Amino acid sequence: MKLISSISDFQSWRQACSGTIGFVPTMGALHSGHLSLVHKSNSKCDLTIVSIYVNPAQFTPGEDLSNYPRDLEKDLEALSKFQVDVVFFPDDKQMYPQGFSTFILEDNFSHRLEGKSRPEHFKGVLTIVGKLFNIIRPSHAFFGEKDAQQIRVLQKMVTDLNYNLQIVPCPIVREANGLAMSSRNIYLSENNREKAGVIHRSLKKAEEMLVQGYHSVVEIREVVIAMIKTEKQIRLDYFSIVDNISLKEIHDNIEGDILVSIAVFFLDVRLIDNFTFQMDK
Ligand code: AMP
Repeated sequence: MKLISSISDFQSWRQACSGTIGFVPTMGALHSGHLSLVHKSNSKCDLTIVSIYVNPAQFTPGEDLSNYPRDLEKDLEALSKFQVDVVFFPDDKQMYPQGFSTFILEDNFSHRLEGKSRPEHFKGVLTIVGKLFNIIRPSHAFFGEKDAQQIRVLQKMVTDLNYNLQIVPCPIVREANGLAMSSRNIYLSENNREKAGVIHRSLKKAEEMLVQGYHSVVEIREVVIAMIKTEKQIRLDYFSIVDNISLKEIHDNIEGDILVSIAVFFLDVRLIDNFTFQMDK
């Protein structure tokens, strides 16, 4: 496992590579969700590269950039159990040198769901992932479905800007109580993590209603909100059902392929989760 922090060193190493190259971009504080992407890359590609970079541009003012969990040593220890060819961990000075002024904007999907709550978020994500794609030049890039909209927006960037690579979506990895794993779960006490299980339970309930044939967004939303309200420390940011192709909000009758997502604040910790569903006519 080679550790490379300089872009030019990485590019020199990259010149000598052949075969398929799997890339797993992360912000560190690695957990089993991240590691499942590494595992997937190992099974699909000849080489695997993991990046660790806390990207300031994707944090909205007031978010947790300054105290985002960082523990490179622990991350390297976790990665050493996999076949990782390079861990690339550039610093801010290299990624955003003084005078940096070029950004990537996606002008449709980015504005929905997470984009409404975090207006500059996808501009930051696309810019950093676009830069990393240019530096790493992977054949495959692995992303978690926990960030379902992120995958959609990145896929659009890859198509629109002709990146020659395949985005590989990977399933959500969860704690025993169903809570989607997240680096931000570290902020929650064990007791609160247990309570946060209600987020997944509320989505399971929504799914159960869909299976039973409920077509009304209003009815499903009511049930989900009532469940979330049982935990006093949790405040709903949004619960949303969108068309899974257009990401357009469905307001009443549910039809076709849908994405059901939720974002909450547990105290001041923002947590997200989602699932997709195909509604029979
Ligand atoms: P992050 O470090 O939070 O930027 O996440 C890096 C990658 O890991 C993204 O593609 C995330 O979607 C993915 N990821 C984060 N949490 C999970 C999870 N619980 N299950 C699967 N993938 C995840």
